[in-house]
Amino acid sequence: MEQVCVEKTASRGIAAAEVYKYLEPDWTPDRMIITEEQVGEEQAKFADAREAVMKELEILAAENAIFAAHLEIAGDYMLQEGVNAKITGEKKNAQLAVHEVIEEFAAIFSAMDDAYMKERGADVKDIGKRLLAKLKGIKRPDLGEIQKEVIIAAKDLYPSDTVKLSPETVKGIITEEGGVTSHVSIIAKSMNIPTLVGVKGILEKLEDGMMVCMDAEKGVIIIDPDAVTWKDYQAKKKEYEEKCARLKKLREIPAVTKNGKKISLCANVGNTEDIKKALPMKIDGVGLFRSEFLYMENTHFPTEEEQYQVYREAARLCPQELTIRTLDIGGDKDLSYFDFEKEENPFLGWRAIRISLDMKDMFKVQLRAILRASAFGQVRIMFPMIISMEELREAKAVVEECKQELKAEGIAYDEQIELGMMMETPASVLLAEEFAKEADFFSIGTNDLTQYLLAVDRGNKKIADRYSYFHPAVVKAIGQIIQAGHKEGIKVGMCGEMAGDVKAVPVLLELGLDEFSMSAGSIDYVREQIINML
Ligand code: PEP
Ligand code: MG
Repeated sequence: MEQVCVEKTASRGIAAAEVYKYLEPDWTPDRMIITEEQVGEEQAKFADAREAVMKELEILAAENAIFAAHLEIAGDYMLQEGVNAKITGEKKNAQLAVHEVIEEFAAIFSAMDDAYMKERGADVKDIGKRLLAKLKGIKRPDLGEIQKEVIIAAKDLYPSDTVKLSPETVKGIITEEGGVTSHVSIIAKSMNIPTLVGVKGILEKLEDGMMVCMDAEKGVIIIDPDAVTWKDYQAKKKEYEEKCARLKKLREIPAVTKNGKKISLCANVGNTEDIKKALPMKIDGVGLFRSEFLYMENTHFPTEEEQYQVYREAARLCPQELTIRTLDIGGDKDLSYFDFEKEENPFLGWRAIRISLDMKDMFKVQLRAILRASAFGQVRIMFPMIISMEELREAKAVVEECKQELKAEGIAYDEQIELGMMMETPASVLLAEEFAKEADFFSIGTNDLTQYLLAVDRGNKKIADRYSYFHPAVVKAIGQIIQAGHKEGIKVGMCGEMAGDVKAVPVLLELGLDEFSMSAGSIDYVREQIINML
C-alpha cells in the first residue's frame, strides 16, 4: 500500500476501483522529405484527412460546445495554409507538416501566462491527433468500450477521449499532466467523475488491474490498498454521495439572515457555458462575467456584434443580475493579436480600465455591446482596477456617450443600467466613501486586493504562504468597504476567491457582505455554510 498526495483536484468525489492504464498510440510522424512530384499527393492526403476530421467534429459539435471550438480551429485558414506551406515550400510530407504546425500553434497557447489559455494548447493538440490518426491510419483506443468499473490512469486525456467516457464504468480519472481548467477537467466535472490532474510520475507506480482508491476532495491516492482501507473508502464514498444529495436539497432553501436580509449567491463565469453549468446550483445571478475571455479566445478584437451575441445570450440565461466586468487585460493576461510592450511590473502596469480609457474606441465597442444586451435582462456594468474618482467618472462618461449614440440610432438598452466598480486596489479602499457616492454597487476583488495591500505577488509560489486574504489588513479593508457602501445605501458583493472559501463565510457575514460570487463548484458548500450560520 502506498499513499500519494496531490495538489490539484479537477473534479471532486471519492472512488475505489481497478486501474485501466490508458496508453496512447505512437503519434510520431513518419518524417519524410518529399520530391516536387509528391507535393500534390501529400496536399491531397492532408485535404482528405482535414475533410474527414471536419466531418467527425461537425457531428460532435452539435452536442458539445468544446467540439464546436475544435471545429473552428480545424477550419482555421492559418492552420491549413501553414501545413500547405510546409508541404510545398519545405517539401515535408503531410504527417510531418501537420505535426510541426500543430506544435507551433500549441506552443503559442502554452506560452501564455493565463492558466485557462495555457490549457487551450491541449485542444490544438487534440485536433492534431485526429489529423495524424487519419494520415497514419491509426485507430485511437475507444474509452467508451470499457465494460467494467475502472479508474483511468493516463499521461493526459484529450476532449476526444473524455467525451466517450461513461460515468457508469469510469469511476475516476488520474492524469500526469493537465490543469484544473483543461477541458478534460471540465468534462469530468460535468459527468461527476472524480478527477485528479498533474500527478507527476503516477504511471510508473500503476499497473493495469491494480486496485486504487482516490479521494478527489482532499487530493489523496492510495495504491494497492489493504482490506481495511478499501472498506474505509467504500464508506467514504457512501458518505460523499449522501453529502451531495444533502447539498442538492439545500439549493431550495433561500439564504436569509435572522433579520430578514437575503444573501445573494452568484457565480463567477467566463462564458455562457459557465452560466449554464451554474444554473442547477440555483444561483441568484452572475456577480462576475470575466469578459476578457471573449477577447483572449479570439484571433482579433471581438466586434460589437460578436460581443452583443454573447452578452445577450448571457442576459437571457441569467435568472437575475448579470454583472459584466469590462475588459481586464494586461497583468498576467495577454492577447495573441495585440502587442503589449514588455513591462517591469505588469501587475502595476498598463492593465484593465487603464487600457480601456486609453483605447476609447475599443472600450466603446464593448460598452455598446453590453448596453444593447441590457435590453434582454438585468445587466450591470463593472469597471476593474479603479484607483481614482477621475477614472470612475471618465468610464461613466463613456457609457453615457454610448447611451446617447444608441438612443440616436433608435437601439434599445436599459436606461437604468447600474454602473459599479471592483474594489481591488488600496486606493479604492481609502476612497471607498467617495466612490460609494458615485458608484451603483461595489464588488470586492480579494485576489488583487490581497496582492496590492500586502505587496505579495498573487502568482509567486515562493511567497504563497504570505498571500492570505485572512491577513488582518485585508479583513479590515473589507470591513471598511462594506461600511462605506452601506452608508450610501449601495450593495456590496465579493467576487474574489475569498467569497468561495467556506472558512471565510463567518467573518464575511459578520462584516455584512450582501453578495457572494464564486466559481460554480463552491456554491453548494458556501450555501451550506451560510445556512448553518443563520
Ligand atoms: C479579483 O482580483 O479578486 C478578481 C475577482 O479579479 P481577477 O481575479 O480576474 O483579477
Ligand atoms: Mg482583479
